[in-house]
Amino acid sequence: MKPPESVAGGRPVGRISRRASKALREPFSNQWRDLLSTRLDWWSNLSEAEQRHMEDLIRIFLAEKTMEGVIGYTPDEEVRLLIAAQACLLILGLDYRFYDDVSAIVVSPGLVVQRGSRRLDGGVVSDDHPALAGQAMLHGPVLLVWDRVANDARHPERGHNVVFHEFAHKIDMRNGAADGVPPLSSSLAERWGEHMPAMLAKLRAGSPMPFDAYAATNPAEFLAVVTEAFFVLPRELAGAEPDLYSLLRDFYQQDPYARARDALSDV
Ligand SMILES: [Zn+2]
Repeated sequence: MKPPESVAGGRPVGRISRRASKALREPFSNQWRDLLSTRLDWWSNLSEAEQRHMEDLIRIFLAEKTMEGVIGYTPDEEVRLLIAAQACLLILGLDYRFYDDVSAIVVSPGLVVQRGSRRLDGGVVSDDHPALAGQAMLHGPVLLVWDRVANDARHPERGHNVVFHEFAHKIDMRNGAADGVPPLSSSLAERWGEHMPAMLAKLRAGSPMPFDAYAATNPAEFLAVVTEAFFVLPRELAGAEPDLYSLLRDFYQQDPYARARDALSDV
């Protein structure tokens, strides 16, 4: 018997595994809620409904994806939770199936030095050579370096987030090799086709932008880096490049800048 069509936080997520259904029947622990709100600066900006939806996505993610350490290292519960939460933020407004191709997450405690040749055909997207902070493989795992993940979460003001970056690559790979064009609706595809190449050209021409110049590497890296900025420094991105911000907002179907602004006005 197939598992039932399931919902998370009242929103459809499509079919999920029996393991995930079982995980959803367990309550989300208060200890996990405390960890999320103390370690992730954006967590408390989410509405109640968004937090409940995230809690469901996190449990499904942890039940369905394998997360393991490199030899001699085992990611503990906190590591697993914080990686899952950051990965799930990107699909808060999207279909959970965007992560169907995420088979496993491999976590290394420190920087990984890569040996040998590397492919750059969009099937493997490695960052920070020769010492890797992360890597996303088409039809393969995501590699993350915990030191970097923890540091990025501690210092959001620096505008980097390796989890958002690598999972943006996986979203990009949802329709094939990483090319900077994820699956898009026809109306969004038109705007994307006009705007993204123009922004990349502007960056390459030397225009200052509120994100890392690594974005100029190629269209895939552009998407991954602007995704980091969209979620980590939404005010800066919306202020400097409002068209790019609104395109990403319409793609990800969430508005981190509005959330941060609302949270501030609630204080
Ligand atoms: Zn990258």
